[in-house]
Amino acid sequence: MVVLIAENVHFRIHHDLLIRDSTIFADMFSLPGEESSSEMVDGHPAVRLSDTAEDWTAFLKVFYGSKSATSLQAEVLQKVLRVASKYMFDTIRKGCMRRLEQIFPSTLTEWDNVNIPQFPYAQIVVEHELLYFMPQALYTLALLAPGFTILIFIDKPELLVKLFVGRDAIVAIWTEFISNNFTALMDGCNEETDGEACVAFRGFWYYVTEVGRSMEGRHAPLQALKRFVDDMPVENLCAKCSARVSRIAKDTRRLKWQALPKMFNLAKNWQELKQKDGGKSFKSIPFYNP
Ligand SMILES: [Zn+2]
Repeated sequence: MVVLIAENVHFRIHHDLLIRDSTIFADMFSLPGEESSSEMVDGHPAVRLSDTAEDWTAFLKVFYGSKSATSLQAEVLQKVLRVASKYMFDTIRKGCMRRLEQIFPSTLTEWDNVNIPQFPYAQIVVEHELLYFMPQALYTLALLAPGFTILIFIDKPELLVKLFVGRDAIVAIWTEFISNNFTALMDGCNEETDGEACVAFRGFWYYVTEVGRSMEGRHAPLQALKRFVDDMPVENLCAKCSARVSRIAKDTRRLKWQALPKMFNLAKNWQELKQKDGGKSFKSIPFYNP
């Protein structure tokens, strides 16, 4: 047994498991004379740590298998990942990364199916500077008021600047969407459905109002544009015009998703982001393939 001491809380841990799973502890206990010279508690070698007892309590639940890293809630995941990263518990760290990939997938289709509030997990990505998940995390954080998120970036001024740059780029998605494409709807349309003429201009006003509403507060264009892909509730808008809006919304979402790493000034594209990350965030797990 080994006794780890965090904030005066004693954790008795199996020596063999500790050195099997953690490179740092394996090195620590392999140093000649280390054990004999260090503190002893109840006849076991003891190590004082600078971590919080809370972090270790959360970590040990995963370490001893009563919880799986791949299904942790954000608050617990944050603690577990702190310990796993610092002491290089690689298997548990990988489990934490798998969990983060469920929250921040790198394809738009998977992203659309995430039903968990992403904000608490985004803080973890920033804390550990996990580049692989950074575009998705910064996108999530950019949707919130800066006054609310700014504390997350303490000691990370460079990432905060990237967040601000990305916020502007996200708002610009709307502007671009309207100015480049929607004027087409204003030009009128001669189609008739069941004797009713297509009122393309009404469609224009419907969409432009929806966009305006979305730009207040949580302007989440990737999510909001999905409604324009899926539902076409405009009365008397012909199938051709509906399909056109749907296609434009779909293309915009696809293109902007591809551009996400660039919007936040993180990398030119997902591929370059992967290279920059060098597997640091996400060892041995297949990366997004464009
Ligand atoms: Zn039409």
